[in-house]
Amino acid sequence: MAAERIDGKATAQDVRAQVKRDVAAWVERGHEPPGLATVLVGDDPASALYVGSKQKASAEVGIQGFDHRLPQDAAHEEVDAILQELAADPRVSGILLQLPTPPQVDGSGLAAMIPPGKDVDGLTPVSAGLLAQGRPGLRPCTPSGIMELLRRHDVELEGAEAVVVGRSDLVGRPISSLLLAANATVTVCHSRTRDLAEVCRRADVLVAAVGRPGLIQGDWVKPGATVIDVGSPVGDVDFEAAAERAGLITPVPGGVGPMTIAMLLRNTLLAAQAAAEPVGAGWS
Ligand code: NAP
Repeated sequence: MAAERIDGKATAQDVRAQVKRDVAAWVERGHEPPGLATVLVGDDPASALYVGSKQKASAEVGIQGFDHRLPQDAAHEEVDAILQELAADPRVSGILLQLPTPPQVDGSGLAAMIPPGKDVDGLTPVSAGLLAQGRPGLRPCTPSGIMELLRRHDVELEGAEAVVVGRSDLVGRPISSLLLAANATVTVCHSRTRDLAEVCRRADVLVAAVGRPGLIQGDWVKPGATVIDVGSPVGDVDFEAAAERAGLITPVPGGVGPMTIAMLLRNTLLAAQAAAEPVGAGWS
């Protein structure tokens, strides 16, 4: 049996088109368009590329861009002041501080201070705490993208055995919380897990977020399981062998990867809506 491949690229396009329609409807109702502020310190080309692609994607769906670029030698206080201005600016629905920052700037300290209502990356300690407690808040983009893929493919999560390999703040922990919130029985594995293969074989839904190309072998996959490979740029799953046993599987590239920016756009719209209509807004 060959697994059905999940087309993350097409799904991401679909989410982006939906966000574009929802932004237009929001503006039609007399609201300001949502705004996404990005703050980039220094001239790292890869970071500039990430920020540029987020701003471009925002513009495509009608989200206003506030693109702040500071020199490599910008002082910590300067970055702090800009973030405080953005936090107070009602046109700004979401704030992203591109990490890493140059050494004189405490980037993770500053990012942690982004107000939860504008934390469209969903990675501050407050947002992580809200998620861990199952309370409403903005969720991290890559894990939300995974949940969207599972939802659109009608993957049964209620009571399902879900195994997550990886416990990072960026992916492993938040996806575990989201799966738990969807009533899966969740096991979280990491580098000290004993007999990883045996644990993976229990999974109806197996999420690999490790960063070790090909770690997950084909015969670790339960027949018919859903396999989500977060590894990038090379997958954590031995794709060809796993696809022989899985029911549903994400390829790399073209699986989880494209979902991240799509969910960032959705978060920016949700943040704008929650700011304007705090009660009953679309957070989950
Ligand atoms: P990370 O912070 O390095 O965390 C890796 C996790 O894997 C850790 O919890 C680690 O365990 C665990 N691990 C390492 N070796 C292991 C092994 N041999 N067996 C079991 N567990 C092992 O990585 P991350 O930020 O979560 O990213 C994971 C992967 O996802 C990377 O390839 C990254 O590039 C990719 N990623 C993709 C996207 C996207 O497509 N949009 C977004 C984010 C990340 P310990 O905690 O015990 O060290």
